Amino acid sequence: MINKMIAATLPYMPKKLVWLFSKRYIAGETIEDAIKASQELNAQGIKVTVDLLGEFIKDLSQATENKDAYLNIIEAFEKNKIDGNYSVKPTFFGLLIDPEVCYQNIRTVVAKAAEYNNFVRIDMEDSPCVDEEIKMFRRLKKEFPKNVGLVVQAYLKRTLPDLENMMDMQNGTGLNYRLCKGIYVEPAEIAYKKYEEINENYIKDLDFMLKNEIYPGIATHDKNLIQPAYDLIKKYNVPKDKYEFQMLYGVTPELRQSIIDEGHTMRVYVPFGKDWFGYSTRRLKENPKMAMLIIKALFSR
Ligand code: FAD
Repeated sequence: MINKMIAATLPYMPKKLVWLFSKRYIAGETIEDAIKASQELNAQGIKVTVDLLGEFIKDLSQATENKDAYLNIIEAFEKNKIDGNYSVKPTFFGLLIDPEVCYQNIRTVVAKAAEYNNFVRIDMEDSPCVDEEIKMFRRLKKEFPKNVGLVVQAYLKRTLPDLENMMDMQNGTGLNYRLCKGIYVEPAEIAYKKYEEINENYIKDLDFMLKNEIYPGIATHDKNLIQPAYDLIKKYNVPKDKYEFQMLYGVTPELRQSIIDEGHTMRVYVPFGKDWFGYSTRRLKENPKMAMLIIKALFSR
């Protein structure tokens, strides 16, 4: 109860207080910070996917700025030979203002990554964005078959049918999805709400992917999903280079290491940028126990 109350007040907490918690989850504010964090992860044998923080912009000039920022990130990461790829949030490029402008912005980013034979993952946002994001993925996949992937969310009831519908793209160059539980608050008509149901659907989605030779980014920190994932990898005899595990920067490092020790590929999502507040409050809402710890630390000084 108290944790829920803390979670509800998070967006109103002073930035300095939220930063106390956030610094664990964010690589820093600048490209240099993100490169440094990525180099440290690479040195531990961990790949990265880098994300410039921000979403739901208010005007299209911000979308252009964000596209240009990503072009700079790609140049800097490639120059520094980071073992990693790029994650983008379509609302950050204008999806909810003008889907065509958003498409053109993301297309430019994917084209830049493709120049380096690299890859851009389209993060999945809340349910009003799903159709547009799938549409955008379809369009990009035609032009850049090897350089673009999508995220799907196991809490959405539509995800398995969506995966089935998108099978027409699984020809020759293959499909690459990140499978996560999903982070947004969605209505019960369209989303599973119970932990067990979400996990059950997660495993069904993963089973579908592995059975159909789709490359999954198995994105979770839930140890109850890791063993079933191992079991499916074994069941379908999936080679090590045909899937990967993914985690968020700073979350469950011990579990992460145990997966690496088993010999699986691990990629860490490295968020950075000045706009860290919204991202951090979402992480705090996921894990309000951390918020409690911050408050304790604050008052014990
Ligand atoms: P949970 O059941 O939520 O958590 C399992 C356990 O993990 C918890 O008990 C706790 O021990 C630990 N844990 C989880 N989160 C935290 C935390 N913040 N701090 C400390 N411990 C924690 N969601 C989207 O909707 N769209 C996306 O595009 C998207 N991309 C993602 C990319 C990656 C690489 C990852 C890992 C997640 C992404 N997510 C995305 C978020 C995801 O949907 C989940 O909300 C989030 O990962 C928590 O789910 P979980 O699978 O870890 O399971």
